Formats: sequence, C-alpha cells, structure tokens
Amino acid sequence: MDNNDSFFKKLTSSDGHVRPEIIEAIFYNISEGIMLTDENKIILSVNPAFEIVTGFLATEAVGSNPRLLQSGMHTKDFYMKMWDTIDQCGRWSGEIWNRRKTGAIYPEWLTVVAIKNSAGEVTNYCGVFEDLSEKKIAEREIQIRTNTDTLTGTENSYSFANRMEALLKASKEKDFTHALLFLDMDRFAQINESLGHSVGDQILVEVVERLTPLIRNKDILARYGGDEFVIALSNLHHPKEALQFSENIIKLFEEPFIIDEHTLYLSASIGISLYPHDGENTELLISKAVKAMEHAKKSGRNQYAFYFEDLKLDKDNGLLIDHELRKAIKKEEFELHFQPKIDLATQTISGFEALVRWTKSKLGFVSPDVFIPHAEETGLIIPLSEIIIEKACLAWLEMNKMGYGHMNIAINISSIHFHQANFVDSLRKILEKNNCSPHHFELELTERTVMNNEDEIIRRLLQLKEMGFKLSIDDFGTGYSSLSYLVQFPLNYLKIDRSFIQFISTAKEKQAVVDAIIQMAHRLNMEVIAEGAEQIEQVELLRNMGCDMIQGYYYSKPLPLDEAKDYLEYWKLETEGK
Ligand code: C2E
Ligand code: MG
Ligand code: MG
Repeated sequence: MDNNDSFFKKLTSSDGHVRPEIIEAIFYNISEGIMLTDENKIILSVNPAFEIVTGFLATEAVGSNPRLLQSGMHTKDFYMKMWDTIDQCGRWSGEIWNRRKTGAIYPEWLTVVAIKNSAGEVTNYCGVFEDLSEKKIAEREIQIRTNTDTLTGTENSYSFANRMEALLKASKEKDFTHALLFLDMDRFAQINESLGHSVGDQILVEVVERLTPLIRNKDILARYGGDEFVIALSNLHHPKEALQFSENIIKLFEEPFIIDEHTLYLSASIGISLYPHDGENTELLISKAVKAMEHAKKSGRNQYAFYFEDLKLDKDNGLLIDHELRKAIKKEEFELHFQPKIDLATQTISGFEALVRWTKSKLGFVSPDVFIPHAEETGLIIPLSEIIIEKACLAWLEMNKMGYGHMNIAINISSIHFHQANFVDSLRKILEKNNCSPHHFELELTERTVMNNEDEIIRRLLQLKEMGFKLSIDDFGTGYSSLSYLVQFPLNYLKIDRSFIQFISTAKEKQAVVDAIIQMAHRLNMEVIAEGAEQIEQVELLRNMGCDMIQGYYYSKPLPLDEAKDYLEYWKLETEGK
C-alpha cells in the first residue's frame, strides 16, 4: 500500500487534482491493452496497445460491447462466472481466449476492475490485458525442448520417465503386461572415434527413422542417452510380442547405413524386462532391461535377451523356451540320439530312429515332447528340422563309412514342416548337399499330418516315395483312427504306439488290438514296428503275432552317435559269435 500511496501522491497535483498528462502517458505507452467501459459495458476508450493486439481501431471499438472480442472458445457460463466475480469482488483476473479483427484467436491475461464512485456505485469497468501468444509459443518451445531429444526429434529420457509413470499408474490393479526394451548400439563408440561424431549423429537420426514405423500409438520410443534407446510396449497380450518386436528391430539393422561415402553395417543389442513381472516402477524395469542387454552383448551382440533371472526361474514358461530355442538354433546346440530297430525275423539291426536332444540347454533337460510343440507354435520347427535332417545325413555317412550303409535312418517330420510349400525341395537340397540318397532315410509322419485325404498330401507322399524315401506312420493308434487313409497312402511302415505295447502282456484286449493292427497292416503290404517294448515277454508276444520290428528299451535306449556305432559293432560280434 505504501508504494501505491506514494504512486498516487505523484499523480496528484498540489491543488489535489489528478494530473491527466501522467494518466495519458501511461495509457498511451503501456504495452498492455486497456479498455474502459461505462457501467453498461459499452466501450468508452481504448489505448494504442489495444488497437495493436486486437486489430480494432479505437474508432471501431468505441461504442461497442466487449463481446466484439469474444472468441467462441468459452461457454456462457464462463462469462457469467467472470461477471459474478467482478460484481462481488470488484475484480477478476484470468486467462481468456479472444478474437482479433482478422479472426485469429489468441490467449491473453485479462484483469477487469469495477470502478465505483463515492456512493459505491459502479460507474465504469476497466479491462487490462496482455497478449500471451508469444509467451505460449515460447513455453511450447521450452516444453518441446525438455521433452524432446534435440538430435533425433524423438522423446528424451525425461519425457520417457513421465510417460512411463503415467502408464504404470494407469496399470495399477489392472491385469496389464508391458515390456520395456533397452536398446544399445553395438560398437558405436568405435564409429564415433574413427569417423567422427557427425557420422555418429546421422546414424542415430536414421536409427530413429527406422524404429518409428514400428512404434504403435500406445508405445513409447525415447532416446535414453548416447547410443541408447528405450521402448515401452504397452498392453501386450503375450510377452511373446516383445520377442517378435525385438526380432523386427534386429532385422531393421540388416540393411547397411549409408552415411556420406560410408556404408556401415551396424547392429544392436536389446534387453527386455516385463511389467509387472520384473518390477513395478520404471527405474527397476530399466535396470533389469539394462542387465539383460548386457547379457545379450556378452552372448555375442546383435541379439536380444530377457532379464536373466527370469530365465533361470521359470522353466515351464513357454516364452523362455522359445527364447532359448532361438539361441540354440542359431548355435546349433542340438544333437541326435539313435535308437536301433531290430528285425525280429533276421535278428539284425534294420536301422535307427533319430531323436533330437537339446544339449547345453540353460533350462536343464528339456524333452522333445516339450520343445517340439513350442518350436511348432512359433515356426522355429523349420530351421530346427533342417538342422536335424542335416545331422541325420552326417550320421548315415559315418555309419556308411563303417560298412553299415544298408541301414536306414528314420527322421521324425513335423506336420508344420511337412505342409510347407517348399518341404520336398528343402529336403532334397539338404540331402544333395550331403551327398545322401533318399533311399537311406525313412520319414516318420503322424496320423495328424496325413489325416486329410487332400490330393496335395497324397501327391506329396507319392513324390517322396518316388524319390526313394521310406514312409512310416508314427504313434499309430493315438490319432484319429481313421483307417481309410492307410489304403490310399503309399506307406511302408506302421509304428504301433507305445501305449498299446506297454500292457500287451497283462491286458488281453490290448493284445487283441495289436494283433488286429498287425494283420491289417500286412494285408496292406506294410511292415509293423512296435514302439516301446521294454520286456522280454512283450518281445516274445509281438514275435508270435508276426510283428516285423521292435524298437524299445529292451534292446536299447536312444544313444549318442558314437555309442550307436559301438552298438552296431557289439551287435555284429554277438550275432557272429552265436
Ligand atoms: P516318437 O517319434 O514316438 O519317439 C519315440 C519316443 O519313445 C522317444 O522319446 C523314445 O526315446 C521313446 N522310447 C523308445 N523306446 C522306449 C521304451 O522302451 N520305453 C519308453 N518309456 N520310451 C521309449 P523322445 O526321444 O523323448 O521323443 C519324444 C517324441 O518327440 C518323439 O516321439 C517325437 O514325436 C518327438 N521327436 C523326437 N525327436 C524328434 C525330431 O527329431 N523331430 C521331430 N519333429 N520330432 C521329434
Ligand atoms: Mg518317431
Ligand atoms: Mg512314436
């Protein structure tokens, strides 16, 4: 009040009258717009700043109602409240959108004061306003700067943290899964050092350009710092989507980066953590994703990894099997074991079934009954089958070298692989590459694979038969029990499932079924292989029923190649010795 008092004293001349020249100087020179109305809100006077901001000349404004400036941005209610406040408190201040004469709307900070006479009646209203549009632009600029990475134009770590916080807050008590991917470029420092920061910068810009099309509306991409990026994938149906996404990122780097005259091949390592499984706040999720990323780097770069403890803990989680499988396929961490099939009539080894084993698995022993279905679900069965077929070829070549080339090797064929358009071709190629003839191989198909009597399937089977492959139906009896296909298909062998053989010595009805299967198969010119015989009684019963071959623990478990080779030698000595 002291200040105001002295200010007003200076406005007043010694005779007690207000000095109009001072008021005028302020009115004309101040940068705020001023508008004075009468008690009925009819404009009496405006200053030059008013004219500049609104575009209306004093002559146009005077005599009108301030509604002249209304932008249409505010409701009636808004204005009513504003005037209520002025009537009750004598003043109102706030941000308001008005319209210039040109039609453009702009924000202003407006103060309206009611001026009263000595009787306390309102005689005038005075509005003072400041154009905020410049300020708003500057504010927006500042906001963009604080939320945006200036080099790449994507969001920065500050903005990422804010948006993550909002996302996680909204996810509380909801059953949402989000993934946080931490991406770090491989060997980026080397590029910066050898080619200079400008090349490095251009790469980072291009990385964002490549990543952006993958990012959906609800996802967040941000540059975390240096050559690091973070991506949040929200509301996943299945964590597998994060795997698929990472795979797509890895693919983005297959194309070289062409910067100036350099053609640069780059890659990235990605670590993945999952909300809420690995943590419920951004910090924790980032730190775990970073650990996973470091693990991916250590395991050879250009790959992705889930947070590691996860891998150890969750053996049954299909997701982890898929992830580990992918790595194992890359490194070919599979072996084949071979189980001999004994021809009962001649007491010779007629061949071996190749059974895949996943060696070096981080998950411990994983049965093919578990990982094969996963591989089928994800399509990984195709590269896996190719590895298996190749290894079966190499095994046959070794046995051939030992003089056992007449023996065939049976390979299990997944239904998914069989139905691939290029199945026959890919099989042919692998065999040719290894100089092997189809005559030495038997393909085991399940009933499920050949169940539909589609012409295409029959055509494909005939083609394989013509090439020289032997064909067998695996796990017979567990499938659809439709026998009609057996007549149509050019099959060599029928493998009776272990579940029938298991109880033949104790359950008469199982015996009858096995007996009937053997008779029927023989009528259709097929030989019968009994799977899973473990006891001498089972072997004798099967022999009496006319079963052609036995494959089971009674003779041998599946063996690693070296032991299978020893088994061949041992068998030879035994039978020659007899
Ligand atoms: P399958 O083709 O019916 O293979 C026979 C399974 O029975 C093998 O299990 C074998 O170890 C087991 N077995 C053999 N004799 C006996 C016995 O006397 N007693 C008992 N208890 N078991 C016996 P394995 O190796 O665990 O394979 C399981 C299944 O996984 C296979 O059943 C096959 O469907 C699939 N599989 C295995 N290797 C491959 C492969 O290389 N490719 C494909 N697509 N599938 C494979
Ligand atoms: Mg089999
Ligand atoms: Mg079988």
